[in-house]
Amino acid sequence: MNDLFNRFSECGEVKEDVSFTTLTTYKAGGTARFVVYPRNVFSLQSIISICKENGLPFKVFGNGSNILCSDDVFEGVIIRLNRTMNQFSYDGNVLTARAGCSIISLAYESARNSLSGLEFASGIPGSLGGCLFMNAGAYKSSMSDVITEVQVLIDDQIVWLSNRQCEFGYRTSVFQKHPEWIILAARIQLVPADRDTITNLMKTRQQRRFETQPLEMPSAGSVFRNPEGDFAWKYIDMIGYRGHCIGDACVSEKHSNFIVNKGHATGSEIAKLIEEIQKKVKEQFGIELVLEVEKFNWTK
Ligand SMILES: Cc1cc2nc3c(=O)[nH]c(=O)nc-3n(C[C@H](O)[C@H](O)[C@H](O)COP(=O)(O)OP(=O)(O)OC[C@H]3O[C@@H](n4cnc5c(N)ncnc54)[C@H](O)[C@@H]3O)c2cc1C
Repeated sequence: MNDLFNRFSECGEVKEDVSFTTLTTYKAGGTARFVVYPRNVFSLQSIISICKENGLPFKVFGNGSNILCSDDVFEGVIIRLNRTMNQFSYDGNVLTARAGCSIISLAYESARNSLSGLEFASGIPGSLGGCLFMNAGAYKSSMSDVITEVQVLIDDQIVWLSNRQCEFGYRTSVFQKHPEWIILAARIQLVPADRDTITNLMKTRQQRRFETQPLEMPSAGSVFRNPEGDFAWKYIDMIGYRGHCIGDACVSEKHSNFIVNKGHATGSEIAKLIEEIQKKVKEQFGIELVLEVEKFNWTK
């Protein structure tokens, strides 16, 4: 293992035995054997080669704002792009950004440059990579509305995919079908607009989020995808689960499609609450609530 640590160190900063409580916005879960911050794309490729040579599983984490980890040890490598692969630049109205950028920072920076298009994302606590993977969205807009191209590492080749090739849908993308692909960067088409109008819209929306979402507590945002033409929170209310807790994992009083961690919730407690909700909603209404949050490192 020392040898592995040394080899990863040549590719960037490495940390051992890192708690998922520090890697996810749920602040829950076990530990990751290694977390590596690649210096650049070449280091990223080397990290993947080292993992493959040693039969070690790996997973890219953005900001961990859509991931529910088990309480087990992940005997593999979490790759994070946020510290090093986070540069961006503007060419006219086109923003080119690396996958490790925070989408909130990109939204605010674009507003500062009087460029409109990312206002909807100004309260989504994800990285650009994670937001593309999920086709994150809000207020009837999503990443697919502004993305022109995405740069991806596929089997050691760097390719640009067009918006169409990304197969974006409601919280889905082609990347979910190919978890081994790594999103490196994207081009975002923005439009010039009045700076105050953009910032005012962002402020109003942020205010609305504070009023309607439990932002003061750890969570991963909406737990379930909304059934077509309907809302998941309605069913959670109808089974009487608003405010229901298992340990420190509680359905939020403010927004019942959020599960919050009131202190020391474990991954298992959150998962158990999710399963109970799914079971009761299925039994009482025949509706399958599909997870929006991704479970990671679970054996079942
Ligand atoms: C308070 C709160 C509010 C939220 N509001 C919204 C909202 O309004 N709308 C919305 O859509 N979501 C929302 N979310 C959920 C979450 O922020 C989004 O799903 C976001 O897109 C996840 O980004 P991330 O960087 O945190 O990804 P992570 O959670 O780290 O990862 C998610 C998935 O993306 C993959 N991934 C990440 N980076 C890459 C990469 N570079 N290459 C390949 N795969 C990658 C990961 O492997 C994982 O499978 C909210 C979450 C919270 C906590």
